[in-house]
Amino acid sequence: MADNHLSLWATIQSALREEISLTSYETWFANTNLSSINDSALTITVPNTFTKDGLEKRYRPLLEQTVASICGRPMTINFTIKETASVEPTLIVGPEITSREEPLPLNPNYTFAHFVRGSNNHLAYASSIAVAEAPGKAYNPLFIYGSVGLGKTHLLQAIGNHISANKTLPRNVMYTTSERFSIEMISSIRNNTTAAFRAKFRKLDILLIDDIQFLEGKEGTQEELFHTFNELYGQEKQIVFSSDRSPEKLSGLQDRLVSRFRWGLVADIQAPVLETRIAILREKAQLRGIEVDDSIIKLIASRISSNVRALEGALIKAIAYSELQGTHLSVSNLEKILPEEGKRPPLTVEAIKEEVATQYNLKRRDLEGSSRKKELVQARQIAIYIAREMTESSFPSLAKSFGNRDHSTIMHSYIKIKSLLEDTPLLYSEIKEIQENILSKYTTRR
Ligand code: ADP
Ligand code: MG
Repeated sequence: MADNHLSLWATIQSALREEISLTSYETWFANTNLSSINDSALTITVPNTFTKDGLEKRYRPLLEQTVASICGRPMTINFTIKETASVEPTLIVGPEITSREEPLPLNPNYTFAHFVRGSNNHLAYASSIAVAEAPGKAYNPLFIYGSVGLGKTHLLQAIGNHISANKTLPRNVMYTTSERFSIEMISSIRNNTTAAFRAKFRKLDILLIDDIQFLEGKEGTQEELFHTFNELYGQEKQIVFSSDRSPEKLSGLQDRLVSRFRWGLVADIQAPVLETRIAILREKAQLRGIEVDDSIIKLIASRISSNVRALEGALIKAIAYSELQGTHLSVSNLEKILPEEGKRPPLTVEAIKEEVATQYNLKRRDLEGSSRKKELVQARQIAIYIAREMTESSFPSLAKSFGNRDHSTIMHSYIKIKSLLEDTPLLYSEIKEIQENILSKYTTRR
């Protein structure tokens, strides 16, 4: 390779390094080279087909954009697999990634003490307590299902919190989501660390897996989970699953996995009745240390019935409103700001900006503006990511909504968050929470 190739490639690599996480960079770009270049195209050598496919799928837009800005014109990018004379490891082994090893954090407020019992969740609650007190002994596996916003994550994390707080119980507990399990599994294949990945899960005393419905259609992950399950179950280790529907309704899941879900106890959660909704609102107000009039609580509880997250959202809105106005919130004022249940508005990009801005204490126009302040840039990229994931908007139309930016900038924001998400459990949880909030307030077409 000629010297000018070398320095051009070094420039491109360092530009890429600025754009994505170190982990992603190491995984995808560290072992690449520039093998040839002409007026309109450049060819990049990669170590194996896996890297080639990964680059094609995940990084082509970013690569094209970076190359174009450095070369001053658009270039066609080709990948070629390096010819190897001798045997070489087929996968790139990046540095040991610490963040990926970190478990998803538990929300300290998701405890049994803060969970309101009602006729709607009685069995799920009682069996969660039983499992937390005697993991592997009571019901195994425990399978909790119910529609969105009814407390599944709260219960799973309450089990985790209970066990972590109790020194006499088995120590090795992990909470994760099925998506996260899948992400980690795929990256362990990429990094040639599948043995470590397996060992990590198979040494657990309690494995809590949230939102199992996202494994529908993911054959490889189901296969891995099946073996993890068998291993843990055989050692009488506790497994808890949650799902948004009952086992029989999980259509894209292998039968052998679904049949195992039924080996222990299947408990559902229904929507809470009025009394329970009132009790939940009181609990939430107390948790925030805020006094809220009973008349207000009753009004909110009577208006929103199918989703506890939405219930809580309305309470927060009511509190924020009265703080903002500096006035006591009257029932007639509340009537005006409460959403009409069953009439969730359609999700728009503007609504997403609003939600993300609220989450990060920013103004909607901050997300459209051009400030390069670090916190702002990331919030803007997150809003773009969510908008792309949750609406049908194209990159050019998002470019318009986000302050008339260049559409490649938008694309690149999206790619950046997507790759960061894989390496950063904390960001993953944060974005998931924003998305769940959005889902409880708006209707989506996706
Ligand atoms: P899911 O995982 O089923 O979608 P979550 O566990 O995230 O729902 O619950 C949504 C919100 O509602 C959380 O803030 C949770 O604390 C609250 N919540 C749900 N059910 C209850 C309950 N019975 N008592 C107290 N809070 C609840
Ligand atoms: Mg949940």
